[in-house]
Amino acid sequence: MVSCAAGPCSNDKKIMSTTEVDLSDIPPVSLRRVWQLTLKAWPFMRPLVKHLLILGGFILFMTLVLAGVALVGTDLFNNKILVGDKLQPLQAVVLFVDDSYVGSDIEDNVNLKDTLTAEQRGVVRDRFMIWIVMLCLLFIPMGAALIYYNIWIWQMINQNLRVAMMTKAEHLSLNFHAQSRVGDAIFRIYKDSSTITSLVQEAIIGPVTGIYFILVGLAFVAFFDPRVAVAVIFIFIPMIFLTAWLTPLIRYRALENRVANSDLTSRLQETMKALRVVKANQGERRILDRFHADSQRALDAALFLRLMIVVLNVVVATSAAVLLLVTEYLVVGWVLEERETFMGAAVVTIIGYAIWNMGAFQDFRGRLTSSTYTAGSLITRWALLQDLFIGLERAFYLLDLKADIVDPEYPLGFPTPIKSVEWRDAYYAYQQEQPVLAGVNLRAEVGSITAIIGSSGAGKSTLMSLLLRLYDPDDGQISINNTDLRDLRIEDIRSNTAIALQKNVLFAGTVADNIGYATKNASRKEIEEAARIACADQFIAELESGYDTELGERGGKLSTGQRQRVSLARAIVRNTPILILDEPTASLDAETELAVMRNLGEWGTDKIVFLITHRLPTIRNADQIVFLEHGKVIEAGSHENLVENDGRYSKFLAASQVSALSLVSHDYE
Ligand code: ADP
Repeated sequence: MVSCAAGPCSNDKKIMSTTEVDLSDIPPVSLRRVWQLTLKAWPFMRPLVKHLLILGGFILFMTLVLAGVALVGTDLFNNKILVGDKLQPLQAVVLFVDDSYVGSDIEDNVNLKDTLTAEQRGVVRDRFMIWIVMLCLLFIPMGAALIYYNIWIWQMINQNLRVAMMTKAEHLSLNFHAQSRVGDAIFRIYKDSSTITSLVQEAIIGPVTGIYFILVGLAFVAFFDPRVAVAVIFIFIPMIFLTAWLTPLIRYRALENRVANSDLTSRLQETMKALRVVKANQGERRILDRFHADSQRALDAALFLRLMIVVLNVVVATSAAVLLLVTEYLVVGWVLEERETFMGAAVVTIIGYAIWNMGAFQDFRGRLTSSTYTAGSLITRWALLQDLFIGLERAFYLLDLKADIVDPEYPLGFPTPIKSVEWRDAYYAYQQEQPVLAGVNLRAEVGSITAIIGSSGAGKSTLMSLLLRLYDPDDGQISINNTDLRDLRIEDIRSNTAIALQKNVLFAGTVADNIGYATKNASRKEIEEAARIACADQFIAELESGYDTELGERGGKLSTGQRQRVSLARAIVRNTPILILDEPTASLDAETELAVMRNLGEWGTDKIVFLITHRLPTIRNADQIVFLEHGKVIEAGSHENLVENDGRYSKFLAASQVSALSLVSHDYE
């Protein structure tokens, strides 16, 4: 289901599965929709409006000049050079020839009494060629420059759209991303957005100029013989019906093609991310089979779309060829008879085709061919437009989504100094009817370490995610110094909260770079102090270049425990009032773990520290232990208090093969 594509979708919880294809959400191409989408695209075009106007001006100039050249040129070539008619006065002026080249009056042209000499025709040909060469020298480089300019402008517009989409993707809640495939967003941003580059050309300029050319062409054809113009119109009526009949199919396949390609991107992204797991489980064959199936689906849809276009082209080309053959057969007869054209002398002042002659035949054929060709290409363009619009609708779908985690209109300043963090009756459900937090009440004071424990899936990570405002509670409140998080700026909350994850991510760079990664301008002294608190200083000192040792990709040179301490130091060096540590000591030996806890306790006297852990020594050392079960705090207090209580925590201790309990699976990413 590609949902909400037609308009804003404020509910991020809506699942955006991509594997099913449902056209009903995407409005058909209509003048209204072209207008609406152009309006939507306007903000991305606005910064380049100056360039668009310059480009438009040049194109208009070139089109007018070329139209004039074509009008004068075909007459000169067909009637004057080939047939030998005398020149119109204006033609004599531009070719710099004297009055002997000009017909004495219009009658001369009509009756062909007075013609150019062979020598004069040679002069006209040479001067005409000089004009053509000069115009080519001017217009070919100018045309090339305009093509480049046009591409540049539209790529910049595409860039604006892509950046806006990426910004939106970043601002959408994690819930949205959790429920849609990453590859889908990638495909929308990277591929669907690029359809904007063709919007104006394919949906506006192309059809408008196409229709204009057809009308002008048909008008010329009608000057010569209106019955042929009527025949062209009649030939195209069944083709328009055929196209209308095929359009839903084309739309369906175009959407299927894009959805299949977005699935393919997701598959690629997911496979590359989990390559290690795939290899470990010998899943390559299965993954390849699935990839092949997705790829085939995308290919089938793409081929079908092209097939439809080919079918339309064949039908159009065959009908046009029959029409051209029949009319050419008739017109050749008229040329032999030198029959008067339909408009006859009425148009002779402009183009000089009073009777059917060689020039008239050439021009007529040219107009007729280009009208039918343009009409045929409009039909092809219509088919491609379906795909273009589906791409654009998919791109705008992402932009239309409303982020549900937003800054308040009038944010309060971040409360300093920090005194407390509190969850008051906090409810949260990722999916309706399945509450993950079901009325959590919890308070942590400055200078304390709070250990949050509970079985896997109890809601520990969700509790912390709410504190970072990755999600907002469905009910209840989370506050800092009694100020609701929703009254603070998101950026302030996150810049005042540091987090170290169990799944620590290190980057290629030095140890010092890695520790200072999330802190602007962290001094070497601060980095070393953080490393000391995280008990990383000793092993760093033993590395070949200490803090300047280059780490491989993902910190491959360090052991798991060492990586964990580097990422712990990275959170510590940020020196934020709130620190969240998710399984910070899972890979440390008992002794180091105790040392880290002691250091944290001494360092964090002006901070509030949360630990998600299942390691007994860590838990025992915390100031407050919170036992979470089924989204509720079932016990909270110090180790001693809880032991005295002889409740759930005591049972947990008694069953104290703590490490045997499978307790953790956290994911903030
Ligand atoms: P814990 O950290 O205690 O293991 P979590 O807070 O990670 O628990 O998850 C609590 C429950 O919420 C689990 O049942 C988990 O499957 C579910 N859950 C976590 N994240 C999401 C998500 N993004 N979308 C849907 N369900 C989720």
